[in-house]
Amino acid sequence: MTTLEKDKSLENNRTNGELPERKNFIREIINDDLRTNKFGGRVHTRFPPEPNGYLHIGHAKSICLNFGLARDYNGLCNLRFDDTNPTKEEVEYVESIERDVRWLGFDWGDRLYYASDYFEQLYEYAVQLTKKGKAYACDLSPDEIREYRGTLTEPGKDSPYRNRTVEENLDLFERMRNGEFPDGSRTLRAKIDMASPNLNMRDPVMYRILHAAHHRTGDRWCIYPMYDWAHGQCDSIERITHSICTLEFTDHRPLYDWFLAELGVYHSQQIEFARLNLTYTVMSKRKLLQLVQEGYVNGWDDARMPTISGLRRRGYTPESIRNFADRIGVARSESTSEVALLEDCLRDDLNKRALRVMAVLRPLKLVIENYPDGVVEELDAVNNPEDSSMGVRKVPISRVLYIEQDDFREHPPKKYFRLSPGAEVRLRYAYIVKCVGVVRNEKTGEITELRCTYDPETKSGSSQSGRRVKGTIHWVSALHAVDAEVRLYSRLFSVENPSGENWRDFINPDSLEVLRQCKVEQSLATAKPQDRFQFERLGYFCVDDDSREGALIFNRAVTLRDTWAKIEKS
Ligand code: ATP
Ligand code: MG
Repeated sequence: MTTLEKDKSLENNRTNGELPERKNFIREIINDDLRTNKFGGRVHTRFPPEPNGYLHIGHAKSICLNFGLARDYNGLCNLRFDDTNPTKEEVEYVESIERDVRWLGFDWGDRLYYASDYFEQLYEYAVQLTKKGKAYACDLSPDEIREYRGTLTEPGKDSPYRNRTVEENLDLFERMRNGEFPDGSRTLRAKIDMASPNLNMRDPVMYRILHAAHHRTGDRWCIYPMYDWAHGQCDSIERITHSICTLEFTDHRPLYDWFLAELGVYHSQQIEFARLNLTYTVMSKRKLLQLVQEGYVNGWDDARMPTISGLRRRGYTPESIRNFADRIGVARSESTSEVALLEDCLRDDLNKRALRVMAVLRPLKLVIENYPDGVVEELDAVNNPEDSSMGVRKVPISRVLYIEQDDFREHPPKKYFRLSPGAEVRLRYAYIVKCVGVVRNEKTGEITELRCTYDPETKSGSSQSGRRVKGTIHWVSALHAVDAEVRLYSRLFSVENPSGENWRDFINPDSLEVLRQCKVEQSLATAKPQDRFQFERLGYFCVDDDSREGALIFNRAVTLRDTWAKIEKS
């Protein structure tokens, strides 16, 4: 079967409402382990973020994978903070990570752990290895360690401190812990093989001296375990069955195996998968932090950021992100996903759920000359054509309206079916109007107002409404409209793959357009942050976190599949 055929047959397996039979290589490994009773029938995963930044959409893939496996196999998934690097980690990050995992729809129950919970145990383990002659205190400086390490083509050199006695090593390690030595003066290293073809096996550092306060353990420690020393043992302590990580850790697996074997403790199975890469963005926390610190965006939750909090602010739903994770699947080889696919997942979701409303982003006044002054009619508007249970609402019309500037052309091109002098158009849910004149600014000549007449016989839904015109446009009643600010976004980077040292050169200077004079329909006056709507013909919008009654702010989450493009081009 080709991959495509496989996809198709998978697709066919998806029956109404049932969990799809998602086959991937990780599930195959787990199925095998269940058959052979490798872990006594248990499936226990974990999501192990380092609290040194906010989570991004790549982490969402890992969260959906780990928590998704636990859910589907009736297993458990822990949330574990890999907090071994006190100078880069902060409580703010811990809190945002918990919020984001919950928001995505996952629950770790009472299994919230920290690597720092295990610092004492890890220290004991290190003493154990030292006693076995498998770890030693080394006085080389960080630069010297690098130099002695060798390269991919040349073996490393043994440290001159490699053959210290067990007693001396135990004594030095204890004194390292007791704070007797300055930062960087000593390390504890595993004693493996300086000639190993795998650089990770060349006596890797297990502990470094760092007189820095930790956000959880305070000043209790001045030596901190390296990630490579901590990670596998944390999995082991938590009796994780399947330790799922990204491909760059493949070469570290022999080291993790070595540690666990030397300690003789419980051994999780590590499985590597390809990380998510997404077009038109950067994904590493280091780069995202730079975007924040250097002021290219307004914080980690800026609606242009690929962070989970940015996506949420933009208007993404947890369902759309989970669905995206399902659709991209997991694989063993590197690839890049299209951001367009992510956007499509959001459209699919909001199409089903979002209330349709009318809003005018760049208003142009339209006066219906033959509409009686002071009269207001309430028209029926459909809330969601995809879901009749969402009902209808009343939309008021009166003599003065706003329409989109772009829906009028003084000199219309061919096939322009909206308003122009003498032309007719239907007002959505209302009447057919005809443009009979324009009012200009005397100085600039700019058109400031359209004069129209309406045909009272053409009310939408009435028995005589049969007369047809080619264009339908949206509008709001000037008397009833509510002011709003609307933020339109385009991609944060102007190239698909903004990489290399100069990745910042590819930042799109026009990624945010703020429109401050928008007019939205009355029903939106009380919209609350995170409420999501379809503005007819304009896209899906989400109420911004800073929005409040009287000062509404909407973010455009995503355009409609095609309409917007048409409006912009014509
Ligand atoms: P980054 O490289 O983006 O800074 P990281 O790997 O340093 O991320 P961690 O906090 O260590 O961030 O990641 C927590 C978990 O999320 C790890 O298991 C890691 O494998 C996974 N993860 C990180 N980035 C991605 C990605 N782009 N796609 C899938 N999983 C990811
Ligand atoms: Mg990491």
